[in-house]
Amino acid sequence: MGDLAFLTTALEAIKGRDLYRRLRSIQGAQTPRVRLEGREVVLLCSNNYLGLADHPALQEAAILALERYGCGAGASRSVSGTTELHKELEERIARFKGCEAALLMSTGYMANIGLLTTLVGEGDLIVSDELNHASIVDGCRLARAEVGVYRHRAMDSLEALLKRSSHRRRLIVTDGVFSTEGAIAPLPEIRKLADQYGALVMVDDAHATGVLGPKGQGTAEHFGMTGRIEIQMGTLGKALGGFGAYVAGTQDLIDYLINCCRTFMYTTALPPAVAAMALAALEIQEKEPQRRTRLWENTAYFRKGLRKLGFDTGKSETPICTVLIGDNALTMEADRRLMARGVFAQGIRPPSVPPQGARLRATLMATHTGEDLAYALDCFQKVGEELALISGEQ
Ligand SMILES: *Cc1c(COP(=O)(O)O)cnc(C)c1O
Repeated sequence: MGDLAFLTTALEAIKGRDLYRRLRSIQGAQTPRVRLEGREVVLLCSNNYLGLADHPALQEAAILALERYGCGAGASRSVSGTTELHKELEERIARFKGCEAALLMSTGYMANIGLLTTLVGEGDLIVSDELNHASIVDGCRLARAEVGVYRHRAMDSLEALLKRSSHRRRLIVTDGVFSTEGAIAPLPEIRKLADQYGALVMVDDAHATGVLGPKGQGTAEHFGMTGRIEIQMGTLGKALGGFGAYVAGTQDLIDYLINCCRTFMYTTALPPAVAAMALAALEIQEKEPQRRTRLWENTAYFRKGLRKLGFDTGKSETPICTVLIGDNALTMEADRRLMARGVFAQGIRPPSVPPQGARLRATLMATHTGEDLAYALDCFQKVGEELALISGEQ
C-alpha cells in the first residue's frame, strides 16, 4: 500500500487556515425550514429559488417517466440514450430561451467545460471575468486557447484585452449572475465591445434561469437582449428544481456540439425522469410568474433589512445576498453562531472567493415566509452585534 500521509498533512494545513469543509446533511426536501442534523433551521443557502424542488407536479412527472422509461438512460445521447422526453425538453428550452435549438448536458459544470474546449482552441482567445464560476475557470484551463482575465465587470479591462488581440477567434465568457457576488453582468456593454472587436459572447445563466427577466429566461431577457447572445448555458438544478443543464443557441451550434463536444458525447444521458422534471418545472415557472414576483419581493425585503442593520451587502442585486466579512475565521464563527440560532446561511471562503473576501451568503426563495425572513434578520442582528460586524445602534 502506498503512503497517503501527505493527505493528512494537507488536511491539517487546510484546518489551520480555517478553510476546512465538511458536508452537513439535510433531512428532507429543500424547503424554507429544514431539519439539519436533527434541528430545525431556516434554509438560506439553497438555489431552489422558485420552490420547485419538492413541487408535486415535478414529482408526479418524474414518477410517470420512471414507470414508462425506467431509471437510467443506459448510454450516452449519441448512442442509445435519447428518448422523446430528451427531445421534447430540448425543444421546450429552445422556445423558452428564444433560440433556434438547445442541447441537454449532464451538469452545468460539464456544459461549461464542453463549450469552452469545443468552441475555441489554439490560436484563439478566451476573455473571462475574474469572478466567473469555477467550471468556466476549469474550461479555460482545458481549452488550448490563450486566456485573458478581466477585472470583475470592468469594461475598460475587458476592452484592453480585446484591443491587443490578433487571434483567430475571440470569445468573451461571463456569468449572468455571479454566484458568490450576487451581481449581474453588464451584458449590453459586453455586447457592444464584442461587436466592436469581433468577439463571440457566452453567458452562464446558472443563477439567472427562472430568476432574471419577466419570463425567467435569464440575463439576456433581463436586458431586453433576447436573441442577441450567441452562446447561452444554464442549469436545470437551481431555480428549475431538478438536475442537469442546457446549452441554447443556433442550430449549427447545437449540431456542432453533438458532433464534437466531448463532455456531451462521452457521458451517460440524463435519466428520462430528470428530463420529465425539467419539463414540468418549465411549465410551472411559465404558468406561475407569481413565484418569481415573490422571490424578488423576498429579496428586496431581506437585503433592505440587512442594510438597515448596517451589514455590507456589497454589489449583490439578485436573490443572492452577500454579507461581506473578510476574515475566514470570523466568517465561519458568524456561520456557526447563526446556525446555533437556527439560521443556515453558508459562510463562503477562498478559493470560492478572492483572498480576504470571505462572506456569508444568504439565498432567498419564493417560498420563504415573512416570518422566516424576519426571524433570520433578527438572528443576523444578534450575531452581527456579538461579533461587532455591525455597531448595534441602528
Ligand atoms: C452552479 C453553477 C454551475 C454548475 O451547474 P451544475 O448544473 O450545478 O453543474 C455553473 N455555473 C455557475 C455560475 C453556477 O453557479
